[in-house]
Amino acid sequence: MKDQMTIVILLTVYVIFAVVAFGSAAPAPAPDMPLAKLLDYAPQDINKFWQQTFASSNKRYAAPLVLPYYLPYRTPCGDSLMNNAFYCPPDNIIHYDYNFISRIYSQVGDYAVASLIAHEWGHSVQTQLGISKGKFFSIQMELQADCFAGAYTQYARQAGELEDGDLEKAGVGLFNAGDRIGTPWFAPQAHGKPMERISAFLDGYKGGVKACFSR
Ligand SMILES: [Zn+2]
Repeated sequence: MKDQMTIVILLTVYVIFAVVAFGSAAPAPAPDMPLAKLLDYAPQDINKFWQQTFASSNKRYAAPLVLPYYLPYRTPCGDSLMNNAFYCPPDNIIHYDYNFISRIYSQVGDYAVASLIAHEWGHSVQTQLGISKGKFFSIQMELQADCFAGAYTQYARQAGELEDGDLEKAGVGLFNAGDRIGTPWFAPQAHGKPMERISAFLDGYKGGVKACFSR
């Protein structure tokens, strides 16, 4: 059950994204890609974006694997948690709880899942660029990963892959995953306040990867 306040906020998120994407109110969302297809397609497409981005640098790049789990299990980054998705640097794997992802898919939509994978992929990029060596507070890393997800989203849009409503789904996904009121910004698990996350995503969407280094 959503309370009235949440509905007002979600509507605001929709309007912000609609204005950024279309300059006006968004058309009705397109039907979602089936989940199985999405989980196959999104990582391949995100990888294409980063391969191209890295190709114009002299840095090495290795695509992370994207693997589901159904029960808690041990990874080099500790035991996996239910209702979570995370990037683990030692094995270069994005681990995700399948039921968690499937819930986001049914409650928010396909692009909320795609942008979540793009966010985790961003952590792999940070690791490979060596910018995750304790230089940043967690929250800066998280917001930069949101920015990277936004940069990928612009690439998807230019490739004609973004459908009506996709940006809004990303926005609602980010909004729902934002820190609860009262989480200190320096907390180890802090990801940023909902509007900070959305604004980081939009920086990448509007300015590309470059913008994610100057935030
Ligand atoms: Zn993250």
